[in-house]
Amino acid sequence: MKIHKQLYLISLATSFLIACNNGKQVKNQTEGIATQTVNTASDEPQNPKISTFTDFTPNELGKVMVLEYHLIGEPEDRWRRTPENFRKDLQMLYDNNFYPVSVLDLAYGKLDIPAGKTPFAITFDDSSAGQFRFIEKNGKTEVDPNCAVGIMEDFKKKHPDFPITASFYVLPAIKPTLRLFAQPEFKKEKLEWLIKNGYEIGNHGWYHVPLNKLDDAGVQKHLGMFVKEIKEFIPNYEVRSLALPLGMHAKNLPLESKGKFEDVNYNHEVVLLVGSATSVSPYHKDFNRLAVERVQAGDTEFGPAHFMKLQNKHKTRYYSDGDAKTITAPESYKDQINSKLSKDYKINWITVDNAESK
Ligand SMILES: [Zn+2]
Repeated sequence: MKIHKQLYLISLATSFLIACNNGKQVKNQTEGIATQTVNTASDEPQNPKISTFTDFTPNELGKVMVLEYHLIGEPEDRWRRTPENFRKDLQMLYDNNFYPVSVLDLAYGKLDIPAGKTPFAITFDDSSAGQFRFIEKNGKTEVDPNCAVGIMEDFKKKHPDFPITASFYVLPAIKPTLRLFAQPEFKKEKLEWLIKNGYEIGNHGWYHVPLNKLDDAGVQKHLGMFVKEIKEFIPNYEVRSLALPLGMHAKNLPLESKGKFEDVNYNHEVVLLVGSATSVSPYHKDFNRLAVERVQAGDTEFGPAHFMKLQNKHKTRYYSDGDAKTITAPESYKDQINSKLSKDYKINWITVDNAESK
C-alpha cells in the first residue's frame, strides 16, 4: 500500500502547511517511519475553509455520522431543510474533509477513502416531493435542480473528489404527499433513476407505522409489504437496509432484520435509528449494524456542525489512514477495537503524544 502511505504523508504534510500553530508528534510504531508533525487545534484559524480542522492524526476508531434528512423545501424548520441550506451542508462537509460513503459501506467498514478524510453517509426519510422532483423543461423531463437529488448531482459534478451518494427510506403506501416522492406518474422512473445513479432505496415501513405498535405478524406484514410494493416497480432490487419509522424498535428485535410475509422474505443487513447521536466507528467493539445511530441534519445543537466541533475538540473524530486494509488508531483506543477484525485487517496502533512544536 505504498501509494496510500504516500498519500497519508502528503496529507499530513499538507495539514502542517495549512496551519502550523500547535504541533503534535505522531510515530508510526509498526513501520518506524519518520516522525511527522501534524496540525492540531487552532481556535481561530486564518482560513475559513479549514475553520474546524483540528487534527489529522488517523483515528479509524473515532466517531462517524449518518445524516438524516426529512423535508427539503421552504421554510426552514425542525424537520425541513431549505435547498439553500442543504447546499450549505454539503459545502460544509466538503470544506471540512468529510467524505461521502454509502450506508452499507459504512456499516460494513468498507471504507476505501483518502487519508485525512472522515466518512459520512446521507439518508432521507419519508420520500417527500422536495427530495426528488422531476420538472418539465423545454418539453423534456429533468431532475429539479432545487430538489435534494438535483443539488447532490450538481455538487458531485462540481466536486469530482466528493462522490456523493445517499439512501432513501421511502414510503410506498402512505398519503400522496409522501408516497414515493409525491409524483404518482413518475414512481417507477424515480426508483429506477435512483438505483441507476448509485443511490440506495431502503425500507421505512409500508406506511410508517412504528414497529412497537405491531405484533410479530404485523411487523413482518409491514416490512414485507414494503418489499412487495417496491418490487412491483423494481423487481430485481434487493432492499438491504431499514430505517425504523419514528426510530421505534419492534418488540421482537430479530424481526427487524429478517422475516417473511406471504411469499416475500426480507433481509435487512443494516437497521438505522432516528437521530440524534453520532455513531461509533464500524471497527469499534460497540458498533452494531442493526442499530446504527443517526444525526438529524440542521443547524441545531444536535446537528452535524455541532458534533463536528465536539469531535474536533475532544479528538474523537474518525480520520482515515488512506489504507482500506489497515485500521490505524491511537493506542489509547486499544481496548475499543472489535477484536474479530484482526483476521481481515492489519491493525496499526500509533503513539500520539502532545509535545508542543517549537
Ligand atoms: Zn419517517
